[in-house]
Amino acid sequence: MLSPLETGIYAGLGVAAVAGLAVGGYAYASLWPASRIFGRPLTAPRRLGELALTFDDGPNATWTPRLLEALARHDVRATFFMLGSRAAEQPELVRQIAAAGHTIGLHTWSHPKLSHCSAACIREEITRSCTAIEQILGTQVRFFRPPFGARRPAVFRIAREMGLEVVLWDAMTSDWSDQNPDRIVAHLARKIDCIGQRGRAAIVVLHDGGHLDPAANRAPSVAAADLLVARYKATHRFVTLDAWL
Ligand SMILES: [Zn+2]
Repeated sequence: MLSPLETGIYAGLGVAAVAGLAVGGYAYASLWPASRIFGRPLTAPRRLGELALTFDDGPNATWTPRLLEALARHDVRATFFMLGSRAAEQPELVRQIAAAGHTIGLHTWSHPKLSHCSAACIREEITRSCTAIEQILGTQVRFFRPPFGARRPAVFRIAREMGLEVVLWDAMTSDWSDQNPDRIVAHLARKIDCIGQRGRAAIVVLHDGGHLDPAANRAPSVAAADLLVARYKATHRFVTLDAWL
């Protein structure tokens, strides 16, 4: 027989375990790129040999033009997930990216963690960035990537209402903090090759800006993009996300 104290302790542990599982489950559902629990993002098709390069947190006056040069040198197009606040400051650069044949998507106005935002805040972040970028481009934007990949069901619902496809990723590494382009490429290549062995295409993420610091050094990310394209150019086709709609 358990004493009342022991019964209380075990009951408390049970509640703590359930609460722990609930917190862990929510974190998985809202943050894990492969989770489909809160909604279905655009996924890379079962098609070997295709890569969609994507760049987040720009446009950036220093690094985006260098990235555009590298992509042009390889004759490769990519998808840019822009912050509305940065795009509004640099409309010419936004138009230059689109004119080079790249696809432009949204990454909110100010980069909040949308899993922690009210529905009104989510709508404001998406609408404000969407309006700003569409006014600059004069065309409709189709893709939206939530910052940190953080989402909850309202993110999918509001994005869908606005005609936006939610996009996460298959291959990411910490290029925002790693100063070594070769190491960035090695980490991404391991993931890309692993996905390729399963016969799938892949969405790859690098960063051409810094959401906290516009002066953040993105030279390693730009160099990594250059090296990554050089590594896969002979065996893979680089596509923008429009190809997978
Ligand atoms: Zn971001």
